[in-house]
Amino acid sequence: TLSDKLNSVFKQLKGHGKLSEKNIADGLREVRMALLEADVHYQVVKKLVADIKARALGQEVMGSLTPGQQVVKIVNESLTQLMGETHEELNLAGEKPVAVMLVGLQGSGKTTTAGKLSVMLRKTGKQPYLVPADVYRPAAIDQLKKLGTQLDVPVFDSTPDMDPVKICQEARVAAQKAGCDTLLLDTAGRLHIDDALMEELSRIRTTVRPTDILLVADAMTGQDAVNIAKTFDERLDIGGVVLTKMDGDARGGAALSIRSITGKPIKFIGVGEKLSELEAFHPDRMASRILGMGDVLTIIEKAQEVVDEKKAIELEKKLRKNQFTLEDFRDQMRQIRKMGSLTDILGMIPGMGKIKQMKNLQVDEKELVHIEAIINSMTPRERRQYSIINGSRRKRIAAGSGTRVQDVNRLLKNYAQVMKMMKKINKSGMRGLGRGMLP
Ligand code: GDP
Ligand code: MG
Repeated sequence: TLSDKLNSVFKQLKGHGKLSEKNIADGLREVRMALLEADVHYQVVKKLVADIKARALGQEVMGSLTPGQQVVKIVNESLTQLMGETHEELNLAGEKPVAVMLVGLQGSGKTTTAGKLSVMLRKTGKQPYLVPADVYRPAAIDQLKKLGTQLDVPVFDSTPDMDPVKICQEARVAAQKAGCDTLLLDTAGRLHIDDALMEELSRIRTTVRPTDILLVADAMTGQDAVNIAKTFDERLDIGGVVLTKMDGDARGGAALSIRSITGKPIKFIGVGEKLSELEAFHPDRMASRILGMGDVLTIIEKAQEVVDEKKAIELEKKLRKNQFTLEDFRDQMRQIRKMGSLTDILGMIPGMGKIKQMKNLQVDEKELVHIEAIINSMTPRERRQYSIINGSRRKRIAAGSGTRVQDVNRLLKNYAQVMKMMKKINKSGMRGLGRGMLP
Protein backbone atom coordinates (compact mmCIF):
# COMPACT_ATOMS: atom_id res chain seq x y z
CA THR A 1 0.00 0.00 0.00
CA LEU A 2 0.90 3.63 -0.30
CA SER A 3 1.43 4.04 3.41
CA ASP A 4 3.76 1.05 3.64
CA LYS A 5 5.80 2.41 0.78
CA LEU A 6 6.09 5.85 2.27
CA ASN A 7 6.85 4.35 5.64
CA SER A 8 9.82 2.48 4.29
CA VAL A 9 11.09 5.58 2.52
CA PHE A 10 10.98 7.53 5.73
CA LYS A 11 12.66 4.77 7.67
CA GLN A 12 15.58 5.03 5.31
CA LEU A 13 15.66 8.74 5.91
CA LYS A 14 15.92 8.33 9.63
CA GLY A 15 19.35 8.88 10.99
CA HIS A 16 20.33 11.43 8.40
CA GLY A 17 21.09 14.66 10.13
CA LYS A 18 19.33 16.94 7.69
CA LEU A 19 17.07 16.94 4.69
CA SER A 20 19.58 17.09 1.88
CA GLU A 21 18.77 17.49 -1.78
CA LYS A 22 19.92 13.92 -2.27
CA ASN A 23 17.69 12.26 0.30
CA ILE A 24 14.74 14.38 -0.78
CA ALA A 25 15.30 13.18 -4.36
CA ASP A 26 15.59 9.57 -3.22
CA GLY A 27 12.50 9.86 -1.09
CA LEU A 28 10.54 11.52 -3.86
CA ARG A 29 11.31 8.78 -6.35
CA GLU A 30 9.71 6.33 -3.97
CA VAL A 31 6.81 8.66 -3.27
CA ARG A 32 6.16 9.01 -6.99
CA MET A 33 6.14 5.25 -7.50
CA ALA A 34 3.95 4.67 -4.50
CA LEU A 35 1.42 7.26 -5.66
CA LEU A 36 1.26 5.80 -9.15
CA GLU A 37 0.80 2.35 -7.69
CA ALA A 38 -1.98 3.70 -5.50
CA ASP A 39 -3.69 4.64 -8.76
CA VAL A 40 -3.31 8.37 -8.38
CA HIS A 41 -3.69 10.23 -11.67
CA TYR A 42 -0.25 10.86 -13.22
CA GLN A 43 -0.91 14.58 -13.57
CA VAL A 44 -1.75 14.71 -9.91
CA VAL A 45 1.40 12.79 -9.03
CA LYS A 46 3.49 15.22 -10.99
CA LYS A 47 1.96 18.21 -9.31
CA LEU A 48 2.20 16.65 -5.88
CA VAL A 49 5.82 15.63 -6.21
CA ALA A 50 6.76 19.10 -7.41
CA ASP A 51 4.91 20.62 -4.48
CA ILE A 52 6.54 18.33 -1.94
CA LYS A 53 9.95 19.06 -3.39
CA ALA A 54 9.46 22.80 -3.26
CA ARG A 55 8.31 22.62 0.33
CA ALA A 56 11.07 20.28 1.43
CA LEU A 57 13.87 22.26 -0.18
CA GLY A 58 12.61 25.59 0.99
CA GLN A 59 12.28 24.51 4.57
CA GLU A 60 14.64 24.73 7.47
CA VAL A 61 15.08 21.49 9.30
CA MET A 62 13.02 21.85 12.43
CA GLY A 63 14.94 20.89 15.48
CA SER A 64 12.12 18.97 17.07
CA LEU A 65 11.56 16.60 14.15
CA THR A 66 13.75 13.94 12.62
CA PRO A 67 14.22 14.25 8.85
CA GLY A 68 11.83 11.34 8.41
CA GLN A 69 9.14 13.00 10.48
CA GLN A 70 9.67 16.21 8.66
CA VAL A 71 9.16 14.58 5.28
CA VAL A 72 6.01 12.94 6.57
CA LYS A 73 4.82 16.34 7.68
CA ILE A 74 5.55 17.90 4.31
CA VAL A 75 3.90 15.07 2.36
CA ASN A 76 0.95 15.27 4.70
CA GLU A 77 0.58 19.00 4.10
CA SER A 78 0.77 18.55 0.34
CA LEU A 79 -1.80 15.78 0.35
CA THR A 80 -4.11 17.84 2.53
CA GLN A 81 -3.87 20.84 0.29
CA LEU A 82 -4.43 18.68 -2.77
CA MET A 83 -7.70 17.46 -1.32
CA GLY A 84 -8.90 20.93 -0.45
CA GLU A 85 -7.78 21.74 3.12
CA THR A 86 -11.16 21.81 4.86
CA HIS A 87 -14.41 19.90 4.96
CA GLU A 88 -17.09 21.30 2.68
CA GLU A 89 -20.62 21.09 3.95
CA LEU A 90 -23.67 20.05 2.04
CA ASN A 91 -25.18 23.11 0.42
CA LEU A 92 -28.68 23.51 1.79
CA ALA A 93 -29.11 27.24 1.33
CA GLY A 94 -32.35 28.05 -0.40
CA GLU A 95 -36.08 28.26 -0.13
CA LYS A 96 -37.47 25.30 1.77
CA PRO A 97 -37.86 22.51 1.04
CA VAL A 98 -34.46 22.26 -0.63
CA ALA A 99 -33.41 19.29 -2.74
CA VAL A 100 -30.15 17.37 -2.81
CA MET A 101 -29.69 15.22 -5.89
CA LEU A 102 -27.68 12.00 -5.82
CA VAL A 103 -26.29 10.89 -9.15
CA GLY A 104 -23.88 8.18 -10.25
CA LEU A 105 -23.46 4.82 -11.90
CA GLN A 106 -25.42 1.76 -10.95
CA GLY A 107 -24.11 0.08 -7.82
CA SER A 108 -22.03 3.06 -6.74
CA GLY A 109 -24.09 3.44 -3.58
CA LYS A 110 -26.64 6.18 -4.29
CA THR A 111 -29.59 4.56 -2.57
CA THR A 112 -27.54 3.55 0.46
CA THR A 113 -26.05 7.05 0.65
CA ALA A 114 -29.52 8.61 0.48
CA GLY A 115 -30.43 6.57 3.56
CA LYS A 116 -27.19 7.45 5.32
CA LEU A 117 -27.60 11.15 4.56
CA SER A 118 -31.12 11.16 5.97
CA VAL A 119 -29.71 9.77 9.23
CA MET A 120 -27.02 12.41 9.30
CA LEU A 121 -29.40 15.25 8.45
CA ARG A 122 -31.87 14.25 11.10
CA LYS A 123 -29.10 14.43 13.67
CA THR A 124 -28.63 18.10 12.81
CA GLY A 125 -32.31 18.81 13.26
CA LYS A 126 -33.36 18.58 9.62
CA GLN A 127 -36.45 16.80 8.37
CA PRO A 128 -35.32 14.67 5.43
CA TYR A 129 -37.63 13.29 2.75
CA LEU A 130 -36.55 10.42 0.52
CA VAL A 131 -37.48 10.44 -3.17
CA PRO A 132 -37.08 7.30 -5.29
CA ALA A 133 -36.55 8.52 -8.84
CA ASP A 134 -34.99 5.40 -10.33
CA VAL A 135 -37.89 3.94 -12.30
CA TYR A 136 -35.85 1.58 -14.44
CA ARG A 137 -34.58 -0.99 -12.01
CA PRO A 138 -37.59 -2.93 -10.73
CA ALA A 139 -36.46 -3.17 -7.13
CA ALA A 140 -34.95 0.30 -6.83
CA ILE A 141 -38.07 2.07 -5.58
CA ASP A 142 -38.80 -0.68 -3.06
CA GLN A 143 -35.22 -0.56 -1.80
CA LEU A 144 -35.57 3.09 -0.80
CA LYS A 145 -39.07 2.62 0.59
CA LYS A 146 -37.75 -0.15 2.81
CA LEU A 147 -34.91 2.07 3.99
CA GLY A 148 -37.40 4.79 4.82
CA THR A 149 -39.53 2.44 6.88
CA GLN A 150 -36.47 1.14 8.68
CA LEU A 151 -35.29 4.66 9.51
CA ASP A 152 -38.72 6.16 9.99
CA VAL A 153 -38.06 8.77 7.32
CA PRO A 154 -40.95 9.58 4.96
CA VAL A 155 -40.56 8.36 1.37
CA PHE A 156 -42.38 9.69 -1.68
CA ASP A 157 -44.71 7.06 -3.09
CA SER A 158 -43.20 6.77 -6.57
CA THR A 159 -44.34 4.11 -9.02
CA PRO A 160 -42.30 2.67 -11.93
CA ASP A 161 -44.69 4.09 -14.53
CA MET A 162 -44.06 7.71 -13.52
CA ASP A 163 -41.69 10.11 -15.24
CA PRO A 164 -38.64 10.80 -13.02
CA VAL A 165 -38.86 14.56 -13.51
CA LYS A 166 -42.50 14.51 -12.50
CA ILE A 167 -41.67 12.37 -9.46
CA CYS A 168 -39.19 14.98 -8.23
CA GLN A 169 -41.61 17.85 -8.83
CA GLU A 170 -44.50 16.18 -7.07
CA ALA A 171 -42.24 15.04 -4.27
CA ARG A 172 -41.38 18.62 -3.42
CA VAL A 173 -45.03 19.47 -2.87
CA ALA A 174 -45.56 16.29 -0.86
CA ALA A 175 -42.48 16.96 1.27
CA GLN A 176 -43.72 20.41 2.16
CA LYS A 177 -47.07 18.98 3.15
CA ALA A 178 -45.34 16.41 5.31
CA GLY A 179 -43.40 19.17 7.07
CA CYS A 180 -40.04 18.14 5.62
CA ASP A 181 -37.29 20.57 4.66
CA THR A 182 -34.71 18.52 2.75
CA LEU A 183 -35.43 16.23 -0.20
CA LEU A 184 -32.94 13.53 -1.12
CA LEU A 185 -33.41 12.59 -4.75
CA ASP A 186 -32.24 9.03 -5.47
CA THR A 187 -31.82 9.03 -9.22
CA ALA A 188 -31.29 6.22 -11.70
CA GLY A 189 -27.86 4.94 -12.65
CA ARG A 190 -26.53 2.98 -15.57
CA LEU A 191 -23.65 0.60 -15.83
CA HIS A 192 -21.95 3.11 -18.10
CA ILE A 193 -22.45 6.77 -18.73
CA ASP A 194 -24.90 7.31 -21.59
CA ASP A 195 -26.62 10.27 -23.15
CA ALA A 196 -30.16 9.27 -22.27
CA LEU A 197 -29.27 9.14 -18.58
CA MET A 198 -27.45 12.46 -18.67
CA GLU A 199 -30.37 13.98 -20.49
CA GLU A 200 -32.80 12.81 -17.82
CA LEU A 201 -30.59 13.99 -14.95
CA SER A 202 -30.13 17.30 -16.63
CA ARG A 203 -33.90 17.73 -16.93
CA ILE A 204 -34.36 16.96 -13.24
CA ARG A 205 -31.67 19.48 -12.44
CA THR A 206 -33.23 22.33 -14.41
CA THR A 207 -36.72 21.57 -13.19
CA VAL A 208 -36.07 20.95 -9.51
CA ARG A 209 -33.03 23.22 -9.06
CA PRO A 210 -31.32 21.25 -6.31
CA THR A 211 -29.08 23.23 -3.94
CA ASP A 212 -26.49 20.45 -4.12
CA ILE A 213 -25.74 17.64 -6.55
CA LEU A 214 -23.62 14.85 -5.17
CA LEU A 215 -21.89 12.45 -7.49
CA VAL A 216 -21.71 9.11 -5.73
CA ALA A 217 -18.67 7.09 -6.82
CA ASP A 218 -17.16 3.80 -5.78
CA ALA A 219 -13.65 4.40 -4.41
CA MET A 220 -12.64 0.85 -5.31
CA THR A 221 -12.74 1.77 -8.99
CA GLY A 222 -9.79 4.15 -8.59
CA GLN A 223 -9.22 6.29 -11.66
CA ASP A 224 -12.60 5.30 -13.11
CA ALA A 225 -14.22 7.12 -10.21
CA VAL A 226 -12.22 10.20 -11.13
CA ASN A 227 -13.20 10.02 -14.79
CA ILE A 228 -16.84 9.46 -13.90
CA ALA A 229 -16.77 12.49 -11.61
CA LYS A 230 -15.27 14.54 -14.39
CA THR A 231 -17.91 13.51 -16.94
CA PHE A 232 -20.83 14.03 -14.56
CA ASP A 233 -19.43 17.41 -13.58
CA GLU A 234 -19.13 18.51 -17.19
CA ARG A 235 -22.76 17.62 -17.81
CA LEU A 236 -24.37 18.58 -14.52
CA ASP A 237 -22.01 20.94 -12.71
CA ILE A 238 -22.00 18.85 -9.55
CA GLY A 239 -21.56 20.37 -6.10
CA GLY A 240 -19.40 17.62 -4.68
CA VAL A 241 -18.59 13.95 -4.48
CA VAL A 242 -19.42 11.11 -2.11
CA LEU A 243 -16.77 8.41 -2.26
CA THR A 244 -18.25 5.12 -1.14
CA LYS A 245 -16.67 1.84 -0.12
CA MET A 246 -13.68 3.48 1.49
CA ASP A 247 -13.80 0.64 3.99
CA GLY A 248 -12.62 -1.82 1.35
CA ASP A 249 -9.10 -1.99 0.05
CA ALA A 250 -9.51 1.22 -1.90
CA ARG A 251 -6.06 2.52 -2.58
CA GLY A 252 -6.64 6.16 -1.93
CA GLY A 253 -5.99 7.16 -5.52
CA ALA A 254 -9.51 8.39 -6.16
CA ALA A 255 -9.62 10.40 -2.95
CA LEU A 256 -6.37 12.11 -3.86
CA SER A 257 -7.17 12.87 -7.49
CA ILE A 258 -10.79 13.97 -7.58
CA ARG A 259 -10.37 17.47 -6.24
CA SER A 260 -7.51 18.48 -8.46
CA ILE A 261 -8.97 16.87 -11.59
CA THR A 262 -12.55 18.12 -11.22
CA GLY A 263 -12.12 21.10 -8.93
CA LYS A 264 -15.01 19.73 -6.86
CA PRO A 265 -14.68 18.68 -3.24
CA ILE A 266 -15.27 15.28 -1.77
CA LYS A 267 -17.93 16.01 0.83
CA PHE A 268 -18.54 12.60 2.37
CA ILE A 269 -17.11 9.12 2.43
CA GLY A 270 -18.97 5.87 2.84
CA VAL A 271 -17.12 3.54 5.16
CA GLY A 272 -19.43 0.53 5.36
CA GLU A 273 -22.79 -0.91 4.43
CA LYS A 274 -24.50 0.16 7.64
CA LEU A 275 -26.59 3.31 7.56
CA SER A 276 -24.47 4.97 10.21
CA GLU A 277 -21.35 4.49 8.14
CA LEU A 278 -21.08 7.83 6.40
CA GLU A 279 -18.45 10.37 7.44
CA ALA A 280 -17.77 13.99 6.65
CA PHE A 281 -14.68 14.13 4.47
CA HIS A 282 -11.74 15.92 6.10
CA PRO A 283 -8.72 16.34 3.81
CA ASP A 284 -6.24 16.40 6.70
CA ARG A 285 -7.58 13.20 8.20
CA MET A 286 -7.63 11.51 4.85
CA ALA A 287 -4.03 12.54 4.24
CA SER A 288 -3.02 10.97 7.55
CA ARG A 289 -5.03 7.90 6.75
CA ILE A 290 -3.37 7.57 3.38
CA LEU A 291 0.01 7.99 4.95
CA GLY A 292 -0.95 5.51 7.62
CA MET A 293 1.30 7.28 10.06
CA GLY A 294 -1.36 8.55 12.35
CA ASP A 295 0.66 8.29 15.49
CA VAL A 296 3.69 10.10 14.15
CA LEU A 297 1.48 12.88 12.88
CA THR A 298 -0.31 13.09 16.16
CA ILE A 299 2.92 13.72 18.03
CA ILE A 300 3.88 16.37 15.56
CA GLU A 301 0.52 18.04 15.85
CA LYS A 302 0.53 17.86 19.60
CA ALA A 303 4.01 19.27 19.76
CA GLN A 304 3.04 22.10 17.47
CA GLU A 305 -0.07 22.88 19.41
CA VAL A 306 1.63 23.35 22.71
CA VAL A 307 5.04 24.64 21.85
CA ASP A 308 5.50 28.25 21.20
CA GLU A 309 8.36 28.20 18.72
CA LYS A 310 10.16 31.25 20.10
CA LYS A 311 9.97 29.97 23.60
CA ALA A 312 11.23 26.63 22.42
CA ILE A 313 14.31 28.16 20.89
CA GLU A 314 14.99 30.05 24.05
CA LEU A 315 14.63 26.89 26.03
CA GLU A 316 16.92 24.97 23.80
CA LYS A 317 19.58 27.60 24.29
CA LYS A 318 19.19 27.33 28.04
CA LEU A 319 19.41 23.58 27.85
CA ARG A 320 22.60 23.79 25.90
CA LYS A 321 24.15 26.12 28.40
CA ASN A 322 22.69 24.15 31.27
CA GLN A 323 20.66 27.12 32.38
CA PHE A 324 17.45 25.18 32.49
CA THR A 325 15.93 26.31 35.75
CA LEU A 326 13.26 24.81 37.93
CA GLU A 327 10.90 27.45 36.57
CA ASP A 328 11.55 26.19 33.06
CA PHE A 329 11.04 22.71 34.38
CA ARG A 330 7.62 23.70 35.69
CA ASP A 331 6.66 25.35 32.38
CA GLN A 332 7.69 22.25 30.51
CA MET A 333 5.68 20.07 32.85
CA ARG A 334 2.65 22.20 32.08
CA GLN A 335 3.20 21.78 28.37
CA ILE A 336 3.72 18.08 28.69
CA ARG A 337 0.49 17.73 30.54
CA LYS A 338 -1.25 19.34 27.58
CA MET A 339 0.40 16.79 25.33
CA GLY A 340 -0.89 13.80 27.23
CA SER A 341 1.26 11.18 28.83
CA LEU A 342 4.91 12.00 28.62
CA THR A 343 5.97 8.40 28.43
CA ASP A 344 3.53 7.70 25.60
CA ILE A 345 4.84 10.57 23.60
CA LEU A 346 8.47 9.78 24.20
CA GLY A 347 7.82 6.16 23.34
CA MET A 348 6.72 7.25 19.89
CA ILE A 349 9.91 9.11 19.18
CA PRO A 350 12.47 6.92 17.48
CA GLY A 351 15.39 6.22 19.77
CA MET A 352 13.79 7.60 22.89
CA GLY A 353 12.34 4.32 24.05
CA LYS A 354 15.85 3.26 24.88
CA ILE A 355 16.47 5.90 27.46
CA LYS A 356 15.69 4.02 30.64
CA GLN A 357 15.30 6.99 32.91
CA MET A 358 12.14 7.88 31.05
CA LYS A 359 10.21 5.39 33.10
CA ASN A 360 10.63 7.48 36.21
CA LEU A 361 9.30 10.55 34.52
CA GLN A 362 5.61 9.84 34.48
CA VAL A 363 3.67 12.93 35.41
CA ASP A 364 0.13 12.75 36.60
CA GLU A 365 -2.27 15.55 37.28
CA LYS A 366 -1.96 15.47 41.03
CA GLU A 367 1.77 15.37 40.94
CA LEU A 368 1.82 18.33 38.64
CA VAL A 369 -0.15 20.40 41.13
CA HIS A 370 2.45 19.45 43.75
CA ILE A 371 5.30 20.31 41.45
CA GLU A 372 3.83 23.73 40.79
CA ALA A 373 3.24 24.38 44.47
CA ILE A 374 6.74 23.30 45.40
CA ILE A 375 8.42 25.42 42.77
CA ASN A 376 6.24 28.40 43.70
CA SER A 377 7.45 28.10 47.29
CA MET A 378 11.07 28.43 46.30
CA THR A 379 12.96 31.68 46.22
CA PRO A 380 14.03 32.91 42.77
CA ARG A 381 17.59 32.07 43.62
CA GLU A 382 16.69 28.53 44.58
CA ARG A 383 14.90 28.10 41.28
CA ARG A 384 17.94 29.17 39.36
CA GLN A 385 20.45 27.25 41.42
CA TYR A 386 18.98 24.12 42.84
CA SER A 387 22.23 22.96 44.40
CA ILE A 388 21.79 25.45 47.25
CA ILE A 389 18.59 23.77 48.38
CA ASN A 390 19.80 22.07 51.53
CA GLY A 391 17.91 20.26 54.28
CA SER A 392 16.52 23.29 56.05
CA ARG A 393 15.48 24.91 52.77
CA ARG A 394 13.72 21.69 51.77
CA LYS A 395 11.77 21.72 55.04
CA ARG A 396 10.75 25.33 54.51
CA ILE A 397 9.69 24.67 50.91
CA ALA A 398 7.66 21.61 51.92
CA ALA A 399 5.89 23.56 54.63
CA GLY A 400 5.24 26.49 52.32
CA SER A 401 3.78 24.34 49.58
CA GLY A 402 1.78 22.04 51.81
CA THR A 403 3.77 19.02 50.68
CA ARG A 404 6.17 16.65 52.37
CA VAL A 405 9.94 16.84 52.34
CA GLN A 406 9.96 13.57 50.35
CA ASP A 407 7.94 15.30 47.63
CA VAL A 408 10.48 18.09 47.44
CA ASN A 409 13.27 15.54 47.34
CA ARG A 410 11.64 13.62 44.55
CA LEU A 411 11.09 16.72 42.47
CA LEU A 412 14.71 17.77 42.85
CA LYS A 413 15.85 14.27 41.98
CA ASN A 414 13.74 14.23 38.83
CA TYR A 415 14.99 17.62 37.85
CA ALA A 416 18.59 16.54 38.36
CA GLN A 417 17.91 13.48 36.26
CA VAL A 418 16.46 15.55 33.46
CA MET A 419 19.48 17.83 33.55
CA LYS A 420 21.71 14.81 33.27
CA MET A 421 19.70 13.41 30.44
CA MET A 422 19.73 16.69 28.58
CA LYS A 423 23.48 16.71 28.72
CA LYS A 424 23.51 13.23 27.28
CA ILE A 425 21.10 14.14 24.50
CA ASN A 426 23.06 17.26 23.67
CA LYS A 427 26.18 15.19 23.39
CA SER A 428 24.66 12.37 21.36
CA GLY A 429 23.47 14.94 18.84
CA MET A 430 19.74 14.34 19.11
CA ARG A 431 19.41 17.97 18.48
CA GLY A 432 16.45 19.82 19.73
CA LEU A 433 14.54 17.06 21.37
CA GLY A 434 14.30 19.49 24.21
CA ARG A 435 11.89 21.60 22.25
CA GLY A 436 8.70 20.82 23.93
CA MET A 437 9.36 17.14 23.97
CA LEU A 438 11.30 17.00 27.16
CA PRO A 439 11.20 18.80 30.45
P1 GDP B 1 -26.95 2.34 -6.25
O1 GDP B 1 -27.17 1.41 -7.35
O2 GDP B 1 -26.02 3.44 -6.63
O3 GDP B 1 -28.21 2.86 -5.63
O4 GDP B 1 -26.15 1.52 -5.12
P2 GDP B 1 -26.68 0.89 -3.74
O5 GDP B 1 -26.94 1.96 -2.74
O6 GDP B 1 -27.81 -0.05 -4.02
O7 GDP B 1 -25.38 0.12 -3.25
C1 GDP B 1 -24.78 -0.94 -3.98
C2 GDP B 1 -24.06 -1.84 -2.99
O8 GDP B 1 -22.96 -1.16 -2.41
C3 GDP B 1 -24.94 -2.31 -1.86
O9 GDP B 1 -24.66 -3.66 -1.60
C4 GDP B 1 -24.49 -1.44 -0.68
O10 GDP B 1 -24.66 -2.09 0.56
C5 GDP B 1 -23.02 -1.26 -0.99
N1 GDP B 1 -22.46 -0.04 -0.42
C6 GDP B 1 -22.86 1.24 -0.58
N2 GDP B 1 -22.06 2.08 0.09
C7 GDP B 1 -21.12 1.34 0.70
C8 GDP B 1 -19.98 1.63 1.52
O11 GDP B 1 -19.65 2.78 1.85
N3 GDP B 1 -19.25 0.56 1.95
C9 GDP B 1 -19.57 -0.72 1.61
N4 GDP B 1 -18.80 -1.68 2.07
N5 GDP B 1 -20.60 -1.01 0.82
C10 GDP B 1 -21.38 -0.02 0.37
MG1 MG C 1 -30.15 2.65 -6.22
